[in-house]
Amino acid sequence: MAAGAEPTDQTGPADPSDPADPSDAEPRAACVLCGKPTDLPDSTPGRTLCPRCDWEETVNSQCTG
Ligand SMILES: [Zn+2]
Repeated sequence: MAAGAEPTDQTGPADPSDPADPSDAEPRAACVLCGKPTDLPDSTPGRTLCPRCDWEETVNSQCTG
């Protein structure tokens, strides 16, 4: 057998793709009521509400009648 120096302990392609901050990858959608940025991505369909307005909408919807 030939004595070749081939350390093949770890096989597999290197993966240098390491996103530092994925949270900044997509812009946040603005709240339709107050205009503040929400936690939802900009591609969210429908009305986007910030947590505060979403909470107020929930309260108001419960008090109708
Ligand atoms: Zn809001």
